[in-house]
Amino acid sequence: MNPRMLTTARDAQGLTQKELGEACRIPQSRLSKAESGIVELTSDELQRLAKRLDVTVALLSWSDEVHGFGSASFFHRKQQSLSQKTLRKIQAQVNFLRMRLQRLYQGIEVDADRAIPSMNPDEHDGPEEVARRLRAYWQLPMGPVGNMVNAIENAGGVIFRNDFGTHRINAISVWHPGAPALFVVNSTLTPEQQRFVLAHELGHMVMHEGFPPRDYAEREADRFAEEFLMPAASVTSDLRGIDLKRAATLKPYWKVSMQSLILRAEHLGLINSGRCRSLHAYMNKLGYLPVEPFPVEREEPSVLVDMVQVHLDDHEYTTKELADVLGMPRNKMLDDFTKRGQRPLRVVS
Ligand SMILES: [Zn+2]
Repeated sequence: MNPRMLTTARDAQGLTQKELGEACRIPQSRLSKAESGIVELTSDELQRLAKRLDVTVALLSWSDEVHGFGSASFFHRKQQSLSQKTLRKIQAQVNFLRMRLQRLYQGIEVDADRAIPSMNPDEHDGPEEVARRLRAYWQLPMGPVGNMVNAIENAGGVIFRNDFGTHRINAISVWHPGAPALFVVNSTLTPEQQRFVLAHELGHMVMHEGFPPRDYAEREADRFAEEFLMPAASVTSDLRGIDLKRAATLKPYWKVSMQSLILRAEHLGLINSGRCRSLHAYMNKLGYLPVEPFPVEREEPSVLVDMVQVHLDDHEYTTKELADVLGMPRNKMLDDFTKRGQRPLRVVS
């Protein structure tokens, strides 16, 4: 047993040592010593723990590293003042996702035509120019981004929708050597929020990951996201004289929220901040906030699902075998990783 894995698996469930001990009939003092590596647990105890923690006994012996979040997620965490317990839980869940991803990728060659590059905004005339260059590099057509999830997945990124159990965090993105860029988004986001959050996270990944955290990172990621989803060159004429009716009409075309369109109009100097505030207040009065009417279609990630399918179909794993590789009970593996996406298979085995 690897004490670090036991602690991480307990964190991932948001349990204290006392709660886990009581659920598994193990004294807290004994559990505490096991997590410190001072005592060895019996195989009977390990089995009870694994069952309660929704992992296999074998996972508790994995020797993987456990990582922190990195620069891409440094500032939004700081802003949101989450409790230590919630942070530990989310960090543990993201770590397990990454470890499972690394195991899924072993023995599989992934067809990512366009990688996610690294561009320092200071050397590229700011976040807007970085967004324009990335659009060109990925050969996205002018106008709206047709599908944000596909754009990231085509570049080798992996997206997973997770219930963080709190609304205070939108997404966590991490990128560690030996694993693809991983974007974990809160499953409670509306479809249009999910698109904006993914664009924001992509901005972090391109501009900030791998460098020390910088003060304006949040604002830079938002500026990147606005230009990426609503390029000034093609959105400006649409946004002139924007009102709520116009915003509602533009929403299904640009696939961003009415709020984002109004804010974009202000940032482009097409309406003043007073007008922006009054439109916002009017939306509030109509009951359009926080959840707007006219939702756009939900974009479903498919790479993870495809990866699992390749193992099951082409590599002839049984679901039990694959669940064992991923350190999960069979049912949890099927629940988490086999929701069929809408895209055809694009993983090369
Ligand atoms: Zn951020």
